Amino acid sequence: MIVPVFLTHLGCHDRCIYCNQGYITARNDIDIRRLIERSLPQKEGTYEVGLFGGNIFGLSPDVLKGIFGYFDDYRENITNFRISTKPVPLNEELIDILREQRVTVIELGIPSFNNDILRMLNRKHTAEDLLLAFHTLKDKGFQVALQFMVGLPDETFDDIRETGANMVRLKPHYIRIYPLAVLKETPLHTLYQEKRFVPVEFREVLERALYIYLNALRHDIKVVKMGLTDNEILKERIVAGYYHPAFGYLVKSFGFYRAVLAVAERESMKGDVTVILNKRDVTHLLGHRRDNMKGFEEHGLSISREESDLPIGTFTLINGPRQAEGTIFDAIP
Ligand code: SF4
Repeated sequence: MIVPVFLTHLGCHDRCIYCNQGYITARNDIDIRRLIERSLPQKEGTYEVGLFGGNIFGLSPDVLKGIFGYFDDYRENITNFRISTKPVPLNEELIDILREQRVTVIELGIPSFNNDILRMLNRKHTAEDLLLAFHTLKDKGFQVALQFMVGLPDETFDDIRETGANMVRLKPHYIRIYPLAVLKETPLHTLYQEKRFVPVEFREVLERALYIYLNALRHDIKVVKMGLTDNEILKERIVAGYYHPAFGYLVKSFGFYRAVLAVAERESMKGDVTVILNKRDVTHLLGHRRDNMKGFEEHGLSISREESDLPIGTFTLINGPRQAEGTIFDAIP
């Protein structure tokens, strides 16, 4: 079990233009101590603690040591920590503290590998900074995960391909994919109001997320989360962008739709088509509110289904005398 502790904006000396975590930022030692006490379960048994929501690398070594000190009363229950952070500033002393404190996993945020986009987002780091942090932390024995974003201003599909290629090269411990949301009281909100940021179609963002997701699957890189964490405070602050409570499901079902369509088109199938599939893929075939079924009909396919013990993510199409095998990877060329 991972017990999350959200150190909102702690260590963030610069605010990324899309970010407003919507909570009162812990400002002093008492706030942080209370936050930790409130977050940790008062129970027996062991658990991992995840320190999320700020930029741990932005803290001074003394402050970081002080924060870990607040966990002393819970040490016998805590197996290890994981943290999320920007990749800068990289500081050897801080890294040593993380090792001493039994941090085993470090999630690095890298919304894009395009330095122009990173600059516009006010991230205050480059793609090269990420690469340096990634390799340094791996060499120090940490498991390093990556957090990507999709739907960013000025982002093109080439940027997504670049993200996918870097992900495959780096082979992170796991990844998360976050769609961009426009939150109230952020510089991104102003850009949106002034029409200097015009979101692309939701489907286009699904396509971008799908590309990264399938490339991760293909290379045995675990995807632990697609979408933003569903909490009420966040929802209230969303004014535009690509938030959906079931974003991960939408990406997967869009992938299944695209894969079935690609195989049917490749085999020149029309009319009645039976899809044989694992029962856990049925919802992926149907799509959100049966959107996929409507899409199939628009492409001249009348789909029925038959459940089988085929592996998840694979399927067989039967169209009269024709039969063809497919997998979710048929969704992307
Ligand atoms: S996205 Fe992360 S690093 Fe950027 S302001 Fe928000 S919490 Fe800080």
